[in-house]
Amino acid sequence: MHRVHFKALDFRPSISDHNLFADYGYVSDLSPKEKEYLFRFNLSLKETDDKLPLADSQIIMGETVRLGIEYESGSKGRGAFIIYRKINDPTLDLVIRAHEESHAACWLGVRQSLERKINIKHLDEMLEEDFCDEGALYALRLRKLSIPSYFEKSSGGHWKLDILKMMEVSSQITR
Ligand SMILES: [Zn+2]
Repeated sequence: MHRVHFKALDFRPSISDHNLFADYGYVSDLSPKEKEYLFRFNLSLKETDDKLPLADSQIIMGETVRLGIEYESGSKGRGAFIIYRKINDPTLDLVIRAHEESHAACWLGVRQSLERKINIKHLDEMLEEDFCDEGALYALRLRKLSIPSYFEKSSGGHWKLDILKMMEVSSQITR
């Protein structure tokens, strides 16, 4: 086991030595170059986060690349790599990063331990996307920041990120 550090979530779980986590930090844009860089590990792409069109790098806020790893020894593991844009808004930057960190935590098998840290009701029943929004809210709470306008109450009664509003805010800032 080794410890990884999810900085936006201030979360330091131990994960299997067969699993990898890397935070590539802020990238000015998510271009094919960054993706190629991620894939240089020569690992098979299992699934990528979100249904946003990958080709339109202006739209994407962040991404968690999830990999299935097969070592020469035959043992298997998982890798999660996160990348995200720098919007130059401290709150929005934190929200996007914490959301992606939460996806990585899920993929690396430490969702339950993150649930205990966030410590609100019904987290274990949430779909991953909703859970990751709760991760983003948790990062705000940790820093005593108020809930920004791009969060809205869902029909289920919990707060959810409104991607369109987030994009609006980000384009106002980066324009
Ligand atoms: Zn997501």
